[in-house]
Amino acid sequence: MRYYSVKTPQGSRLAVKDGDTYIDLQRAYEAALVDGGACATQEAARRLAGTLIPVDLRELIEMGAQGAAATQEALRFAQDARTDAEAPWRLPATAVHVDAPVRTPKKFFCIGLNYRAHAAESNSEIPSEPLFFNKFATSITGPTDDVIHQGDLTQKLDYEVELGIVIGKKGKRIPEAQAAEYIFGYTVVNDISARDLQKRDGQWVKGKALDTYAPMGPCVVTADELDGGNLTLRTKVNGELRQESNTSDLIFTLPQLVSYLSQLITLEPGDVIITGTPSGVGGAMKPPSFLRPGDVVECEIDGIGLLRNAVVAEDGV
Ligand code: ZN
Repeated sequence: MRYYSVKTPQGSRLAVKDGDTYIDLQRAYEAALVDGGACATQEAARRLAGTLIPVDLRELIEMGAQGAAATQEALRFAQDARTDAEAPWRLPATAVHVDAPVRTPKKFFCIGLNYRAHAAESNSEIPSEPLFFNKFATSITGPTDDVIHQGDLTQKLDYEVELGIVIGKKGKRIPEAQAAEYIFGYTVVNDISARDLQKRDGQWVKGKALDTYAPMGPCVVTADELDGGNLTLRTKVNGELRQESNTSDLIFTLPQLVSYLSQLITLEPGDVIITGTPSGVGGAMKPPSFLRPGDVVECEIDGIGLLRNAVVAEDGV
């Protein structure tokens, strides 16, 4: 499954892409409940669908098997009715705005220096255990939304393409061998970094967690559809290739990261872990090349999709 979060005139919706359209899962499930006779009235179906298929992916993941079953049924119903172009659950791609797929994670972990070549270009030692910091829900923005350049705070804005893990169930002290069971799916995140702010502090949050510093999306691909340990990822700035690598080059593997973090902190459904960036960041170029208003950054992972974000100056600054 590939889950999208889309904004419609009726509000945010959890959706699955189908050709040039998005299937609104909640409305499809509502129709399935009426069609199958499970609910006597449209209103009862609407209430039940609203409970079993929330509009937020984190909440759907929290529901576990019940939410997954409702989602499968909604999708089956919508695809069986695929010739019905007038179906209210079918949203033309042109009529929606794709948002970040996980907008309210309870925790947002970021792993630093997890590719050897990036550690080297950053003049940093390879960490002996995973190095992490965090972002916040307010850092998250959509796959085509603007990254805000606050020119009074930074002159060294940079990009970092990263594979994001979305956690599927609660766990503490997860053994590495079982870590895969806790991964719901994968997404693309651009770990936008203000290098000047990052280096000014003894830790990195100040340079990494500002508003819009985590473009995410375009979807979450469930873990059964991808080998997260072998994905090619790349970054282009204004069309010029800057980063290209593969998650098989990670120093600490995905199971190691999930297990490591869970020794310290309980992982919960919908938590996001971004897993580090390969070499090629703007700050390591000779001479350095930082992001300026007007630039367009594209971060892509094969099998998941593309983020394309314009950098814009903050209004009035
Ligand atoms: Zn990073």
